[in-house]
Amino acid sequence: MNKREFIKSSVLAGMGMTVLGTASASGKRKKKKSTGQKHWVWENPNKKESDQTLQKKYESFYDAGIRGMFFEHDSERHFRIAKKAGLEAHRWMWTMNRGEKSLLENHPEYYAVSRNGDSCADKPPYVNYYRWLCPSKPEVLDYLKKDVKTILDKDYVDGIHLDYIRYSDVILPVTLWENYGIDQSRELPEYDFCYCETCRTKYKAKTGVDPLDFEFPDQIPSWRTFRYNQINNIVNSLAKIANNHKKPVTAAVFPTPEIARRIVRQDWTNWNLDGVCPMIYHGFYNEQVSWIGDAVKEGIHFLNGRFPLYAGIFIPNFKSPAELEKGIKLALANGASGISFFGKVDEGVLAVLKKIG
Ligand SMILES: [Zn+2]
Repeated sequence: MNKREFIKSSVLAGMGMTVLGTASASGKRKKKKSTGQKHWVWENPNKKESDQTLQKKYESFYDAGIRGMFFEHDSERHFRIAKKAGLEAHRWMWTMNRGEKSLLENHPEYYAVSRNGDSCADKPPYVNYYRWLCPSKPEVLDYLKKDVKTILDKDYVDGIHLDYIRYSDVILPVTLWENYGIDQSRELPEYDFCYCETCRTKYKAKTGVDPLDFEFPDQIPSWRTFRYNQINNIVNSLAKIANNHKKPVTAAVFPTPEIARRIVRQDWTNWNLDGVCPMIYHGFYNEQVSWIGDAVKEGIHFLNGRFPLYAGIFIPNFKSPAELEKGIKLALANGASGISFFGKVDEGVLAVLKKIG
């Protein structure tokens, strides 16, 4: 994924200063009122940042209403400094997409197999880092459970955040078709998973049919449901471990329940989570900012109050502070319990958050 800097950061920084200037001119520090909202930031901990820099950054996050961090790697220093600033520090974990050398070398049989018979262990779809595990194998579930337990055993880890918790994209977001030179107006066999022995046997035991015998596998409801259920089982098993640790479990998911099911077989409204962060990255779907509100509304409707939804937004998709403000407001107005930010959370972004209050 393209991690571009916020193209308008200089404009935003200027605006941030204006807003800060106004606040200090009022003479006293405003007491923070509780809005019931909770904002999050996805961050890859940068080992080069000093304690002082981190402390300043996380305090400024807290000040703007951010209450939690999802850290992509383990860095005790980052976790502890964030916590000291008042933030929750959760570990963001790549779940089904696992390219660790030890697994690839020792357990190539754990990996998902396409309808063409290719394994993600040696022939990954689209990009080299797409190394999807098969969700139906008990060994895979055991492996992930151990991993989650190890993470949550650490006293400085407040929760687990599951990412890449799905099948590989059978259909990519439309803006990427050109990048890869693929027309995905229908499901193509090389991107359709998982047709390994385990999956085929399990499905056949249930239905009497081998999924490889379907002429139009994308039109078979029970084959789709089967695959939703494989991932649901992984999530709900990992959620139990988090519950045993009395620590929350959240997930980064595709933008709406309908899109998630259709393009990555992800049935997230049926998961036992404490919160969900749909990645409502409008630019990836050739959508406008207004779509953020529609996407949140759909998620809230299908969740039916099961757990809170935090709208994930991709900062580089916004062309101006005004657009960012509009996006955040639409998400909140449609029922989001907060925002989860991907991209550089600079002074300008924080200023927008503070302005919204
Ligand atoms: Zn499989």
